Amino acid sequence: MKNNTILHFHDFLFEYDIQDGLDDMGFEKPTPIQEQAIPIILEGHDLIGCAQTGTGKTAAFLLPVLNQMVLSPTTNTDTLVIVPTRELALQIYQAFQGFAYYTNITSQVVYGGTDGISFEQEKKALIHGANVIIGTPGRLIAHLNMGNLKLEHLRHLILDEADRMLDMGFIEDILKIIGKAPKNRQTLMFSATMPPKIRTFAAKLLHNPKEISLAVSKPAERVTQGVYMVNDNDKNALAVSILNEKKLPSVIVFTGTKVKAKQLERDLMRAKVDARSIHSDLDQKEREEVLRAFRSRRLPVLVATDVLSRGIDIEDIGMVINFDVPGDAEDYIHRIGRTARAESKGEAYTFVNGDDRRKFKRIEELMDMKVQVMPNPEGIKPLGNEVSQGPKKHGFKGKSAHRGGHNQGGNQNRKPR
Ligand code: AMP
Repeated sequence: MKNNTILHFHDFLFEYDIQDGLDDMGFEKPTPIQEQAIPIILEGHDLIGCAQTGTGKTAAFLLPVLNQMVLSPTTNTDTLVIVPTRELALQIYQAFQGFAYYTNITSQVVYGGTDGISFEQEKKALIHGANVIIGTPGRLIAHLNMGNLKLEHLRHLILDEADRMLDMGFIEDILKIIGKAPKNRQTLMFSATMPPKIRTFAAKLLHNPKEISLAVSKPAERVTQGVYMVNDNDKNALAVSILNEKKLPSVIVFTGTKVKAKQLERDLMRAKVDARSIHSDLDQKEREEVLRAFRSRRLPVLVATDVLSRGIDIEDIGMVINFDVPGDAEDYIHRIGRTARAESKGEAYTFVNGDDRRKFKRIEELMDMKVQVMPNPEGIKPLGNEVSQGPKKHGFKGKSAHRGGHNQGGNQNRKPR
């Protein structure tokens, strides 16, 4: 980014024990968000950061806070990180364990859905005043109500994926938790999107915050994008056709809701596609098992919703299918950014029904590019003219064979350029 003065983590002058942890983890050069956020947090400012997963935001907020704890140790709970999902909580906890490996700072992750034994373990750690607590709102409230969680000495409060938490209806819980924390704390809020409701929320909780925003990134050029114009009734068949044709080892299919995710899992299995869905009705063990199978490539196809996929770091996804057009443009970029990580190539296909054309058009505007319309495979009807929004006004330039109906044969194996 603009500021090129920081070239190495050494330049932040973190305490030796922290730098040792970073060296072990192979962190050398800070990412742009780390470059921008770390100095602001070290100076003690509140911060609101607009950044997505994959930008390195976890280290951006954990490292400076950890540094402050090493400089002035405490036996109390010093830092609370509130996140929307168990998976993200666990992921941040694991990152923290790496950064804090050579320090004496203690941490505990707390999340719902686990057995009584875990609850007791969490309780013990909380009562002993684990320095850093990472948790989901519901479980934190449970511990707060039982008097296990004590926040009166809290110095740092971090809200990660704030937009997701509001979408999931956690606002009351979060306000209740924060109500127990001292007012003169440092508060850091990260969100992948910055709608007005997030700004209102931030204005309530943050004090004169500095703001950083990583402009919504364009998708990597290595991602081949395509859009299929298709009726809802034909989406299953289209998904099966693409999955069978490509036969890639690691594919995520995103659906708009968990009900659809479950339904699609059943339909894909019925069509002999080895797919599992991950949704909030699974218990923690089951979710971890699905993710493990997917990460290790025993499971080729994962069906997921945005809520559960966000923040989960899985490398080497070969293809993303947007079974439904995501609610906002940032989500689209976030979803397809899961492919083509590092130097690899990726493919991303989006199923657009008549009602979603306008939504997809906005996504194209945000990316400042047109996405190629793919010819539907044989047997998949082209999108009819039954849709109210005129395709002329909001439709796609380029190929229009999908509307004409003359693409019914011979296109099955055509790939995007
Ligand atoms: P995050 O966006 O925080 O979920 O980070 C995404 C991935 O990038 C994680 O696997 C991190 O371990 C990794 N990462 C973050 N910052 C750096 C860095 N400066 N150098 C190398 N890897 C990093």
